[in-house]
Amino acid sequence: MTSNKKITRQAVSLFHRKIKEAERIAISGHINPDGDCVGACLGLCAYILDLDPKKKVDILLEPISEKFRFLAYADYIMQEKTEEEPYDLYFSLDCSDKERLGAFQELFEEARFTICVDHHISNQGFGDLRFIDADASSTCEILYDILEEKKISFDTAQCLYLGIVHDTGVFKHSNTTRKVMEIAGALIDKGVRPDFIIDETFYKKTYIQNQILGRALMESILLLDGRIIFSAIKKKDMDFYGIESGDLDGVIDQLRVTEGVECALFLYEKTEGQFKVSLRSNGKVDVRKIAEQFGGGGHVKAAGCTVEGNVRDIVNSISPLIDQQLEQGKDV
Ligand code: AMP
Ligand code: MN
Ligand code: MN
Repeated sequence: MTSNKKITRQAVSLFHRKIKEAERIAISGHINPDGDCVGACLGLCAYILDLDPKKKVDILLEPISEKFRFLAYADYIMQEKTEEEPYDLYFSLDCSDKERLGAFQELFEEARFTICVDHHISNQGFGDLRFIDADASSTCEILYDILEEKKISFDTAQCLYLGIVHDTGVFKHSNTTRKVMEIAGALIDKGVRPDFIIDETFYKKTYIQNQILGRALMESILLLDGRIIFSAIKKKDMDFYGIESGDLDGVIDQLRVTEGVECALFLYEKTEGQFKVSLRSNGKVDVRKIAEQFGGGGHVKAAGCTVEGNVRDIVNSISPLIDQQLEQGKDV
């Protein structure tokens, strides 16, 4: 356990006691699971089963990207509960609110005891026991703070490292602190290979993924004298290439690093007329505030929402809000 002022000793000992007492445990993360969410769910599962292999642990999560499937216990991920009775203990990881648990919200609510671990600033607090720290880079960082260092195995370490790598954009976002690097170092001491995790799960792309990235960049459009950039992929194009949302990872990051850009938007059509919007800021726009106006959320510099309409109308309704913040000229 590393020091974290937001986490009390009592809360940590209750966390460990609840795991010890529970027979049937469930773990869920947010819909459309990303690296932090997958790392947190699988890392916690590995930690619990390393302590006691006889425990029953179900990971109730939407199917994960192929690139994460080499992690231990990836085959524990399921979409249907295996138990009739409510779970003794249920973890919500990397979810800013219960709705983000998607289809598993009801099972979470029915559980005998619930624990929430999260780092979203918009998290208002839910669950019987809460570890919410908006200063943490990732949910995996908070989990590292809670877990007993000497009981963290290679399997758990690999998962936590993955989560930190993904939510810091490979140790480059502003959430990359000295503490993050120290935790990463401790995880490397457990045997984690940074080159393997970073290349296999972050940078490696299939041929089709590279093609779609190229297309999204080629079709991107600058607005407001180049301070906003956006690009969009329609459902018919996703179907044409045979790709899913996970194949679009990295598009928004590349848009964001375009010179002169303060705010990047990337839209993909989830179902006809309904777009997932990703927003990224370079420091002058609080994109969470904007995403929240459309029913979404996230962090100051990385947020998302789902909006109905066509690309032009959606961009036209979001860009004035960005402009307003840019006019104020404040750093976020
Ligand atoms: P994304 O653009 O999907 O990578 O999301 C960036 C950040 O915003 C992540 O921390 C997400 O958890 C959060 N986020 C994305 N979409 C939503 C949403 N619809 N509601 C709340 N938070 C979201
Ligand atoms: Mn996440
Ligand atoms: Mn996260």
